[in-house]
Amino acid sequence: MKILVLNSGSSSLKFDVWETSPSMIADSSDLLLAQGAVERVTNMEDALTSVFRKLHQMPVDAVGHRIVHGGDRYQTSVLIDDQVEAGINALSVLAPLHNPHNLAGVRAARRYLPGLPHVAVFDTAFHHTLPMHAYAYGLPWSYLTEKGIRRYGFHGISHRYVSWRFAEHHGRKRADYKLITCHLGNGCSVCAIEYGKSIDTSMGFTPLEGLLMGTRAGDVDAGAILHLIMHEQQAPADVLKLLNSQSGLRGLSGVSNDMRDVLAKAKTGDERATLAVETFCYRVRKYIGAYMAAMDGADALIFTGGIGENSAEIRARVCEKLGHIGIHLDKASNTANSREDRQIGKGPVEVWVVPTEEELLIARDTLRCILKIPHE
Ligand code: AMP
Repeated sequence: MKILVLNSGSSSLKFDVWETSPSMIADSSDLLLAQGAVERVTNMEDALTSVFRKLHQMPVDAVGHRIVHGGDRYQTSVLIDDQVEAGINALSVLAPLHNPHNLAGVRAARRYLPGLPHVAVFDTAFHHTLPMHAYAYGLPWSYLTEKGIRRYGFHGISHRYVSWRFAEHHGRKRADYKLITCHLGNGCSVCAIEYGKSIDTSMGFTPLEGLLMGTRAGDVDAGAILHLIMHEQQAPADVLKLLNSQSGLRGLSGVSNDMRDVLAKAKTGDERATLAVETFCYRVRKYIGAYMAAMDGADALIFTGGIGENSAEIRARVCEKLGHIGIHLDKASNTANSREDRQIGKGPVEVWVVPTEEELLIARDTLRCILKIPHE
């Protein structure tokens, strides 16, 4: 089956076309037929027209959509009908920076390709197994049960994909392992996966909590935010922008949201860039330590995302003080130039780099939904 995978953002529409089938999934021989992006999107239907122009009218059998927030309603990928569309819309209040754009893509694609099945694959779904003590904030009970103020977690498609790849390399099931997966890209999160189930992750109610990211602050005391609003008279909308777009690597370093630029500047001795890199690595290391404690150890630590896949230096700095918990990087394999899945530390906790392939997982889930095959 040929599956068009759409990832609609605020101003871009990324697309992949994958050929997949149950037997191709079984031997990992799914084929990437096409890939591209439309930038500066103002009208999703026009963007889809240009996608099909780029695809030279290649026929597809189904469409898989990446949806950031599925709340606690969508615990797995689902076929989209009007009710699901309304459900995604209702969740826009929880993810105002993402769901409205994802939904615009869904609406345009359903109008443009009305005869095809459309499937929603959620970034939150993998984390529906979080135990209550991991997803509850310390707020009054009714905020959790009535207002839905809780931790949801994101990047689930990526954490799920890399954990599955790791198990596949060992010829075993994900359910056999305790894994810590670090998705370090423009957005960053760490996930504790205990015997195949996400039991904790660093992003929370929104994709803002946790690690320092390209432009997002990560963990900040809520009291500091209230201070800015109540005593510095900053408008809530400005604080939202501050936390999401002006903070993180960019805000601390004053250089860029791109780790390559920040690392280069730090090498010149620049104080702010040096601090940004150290804060970034320190937080990842802290979460790894926390998740070792949460799972009573781990079999492997896996790096993915633009930084996790490409920066040997960041991986080395993250792992630098983790020897006492069994994490030892092998210098030669860490710095080897490779785009493949690879082991970079032997143990007792294996360390791996697994390039993420979220679109492949979306394509496979789309197929499974259509054929009603249980999700692995
Ligand atoms: P992603 O969001 O997963 O596409 O990751 C994008 C980010 O990866 C970029 O903004 C860079 O910060 C980072 N990145 C990509 N290549 C490298 C590299 N060789 N070294 C350090 N960071 C990198």
